[in-house]
Amino acid sequence: MNKDTLETVNTLLANPKNIVVIGHKNPDGDAVGSCLGLSFFLKQRGHTTQVIMPNDFPEFLKWIPGCSDILNFDKHTDQVTKAIEAADIVFTLDFNALNRTGNLTETLENVKAPFVMIDHHLSPDDYAVATYSDTSMSSTAQMVFHFIEALKGVDEISPEIATQLYVGIMTDTGSFRFPATTATTHRVIASLIEKGAKNSSIHQNIYDTNSQDRMKLLGTALNNLHVLPEYRTAYISLSQQELDDNNFKKGDTEGFVNYALSLKDIVFAIIFIENKQEGITKISFRSTGSFSVNEFARAHFNGGGHTNAAGGRSEKPLQKAIQHFISILPAYKNALNHDA
Ligand code: 5GP
Ligand code: MN
Repeated sequence: MNKDTLETVNTLLANPKNIVVIGHKNPDGDAVGSCLGLSFFLKQRGHTTQVIMPNDFPEFLKWIPGCSDILNFDKHTDQVTKAIEAADIVFTLDFNALNRTGNLTETLENVKAPFVMIDHHLSPDDYAVATYSDTSMSSTAQMVFHFIEALKGVDEISPEIATQLYVGIMTDTGSFRFPATTATTHRVIASLIEKGAKNSSIHQNIYDTNSQDRMKLLGTALNNLHVLPEYRTAYISLSQQELDDNNFKKGDTEGFVNYALSLKDIVFAIIFIENKQEGITKISFRSTGSFSVNEFARAHFNGGGHTNAAGGRSEKPLQKAIQHFISILPAYKNALNHDA
């Protein structure tokens, strides 16, 4: 965090404030962990805080300290609107543009209170009075640790905060294996373990709580795996019917796309997930090496994210979305074979 940003933040937080901390739509481990970690820290420093999400978060995160106090706009619409209206400061975490909050976007666009952004996605929008953006960071949760460090608060990290931040870092780094995992990430993790994060049980809580439904859905997804060797690309799809047949619950498809990426010689992996309720096909993109899925998602699927992990959507039904995707690939043939 640069000096100006730190100064602005220190001024904003100089006396007790009413603060809301907001994550992105379809919150993941990093959104939930970083928002809760920051909220707990600010609360300990005498502020009043409320974590808000645009919609519900997955079951496998529903054990994290403080998670039952999160308000989601879909379910607690009036309460969330009031909390945002009453806020002196709005922290936005783990996203880089207000429209990443879905139904909450309009409410946020009309907020008069100052925004503070903490985020690691590419191309951040300029809506905050203090923008702490670092696209080299493993996770927003790691950035919250550095934020606490800058505010000279590391000694105040409780076992709960350590756990919340650990979850964010662990989930966004694919358990410390993605390229943005640095020596500093590991130092932060070491510090969080010293502060009381129980690394092994956190891992179990997140990864070893599979339902039979989810495992069957994974089977269906893997059956739908298609490989396009000339583009070093593999994709998976799940139709609404297949989701329904396996009692799909939010979060069940988390990580499925990585099976496609784990194939030998594949550098680009995609999962297409039909959402009839929203009338869209939700798409996750992953890559290894220099191929930027952020640029690909931005250019063709109204999305974005990071170089190697991004998301987007198509307004087309599943099979049409896939056909459209395949029709785009020839333009990327060279880029996809660049590192071969
Ligand atoms: P996932 O594929 O796991 O949903 O998301 C991968 C990454 O892309 C995450 O960092 C996520 O925040 C970002 N992302 C997912 N969906 C979208 C989207 O529709 N728009 C943008 N700009 N980013 C997204
Ligand atoms: Mn993140």
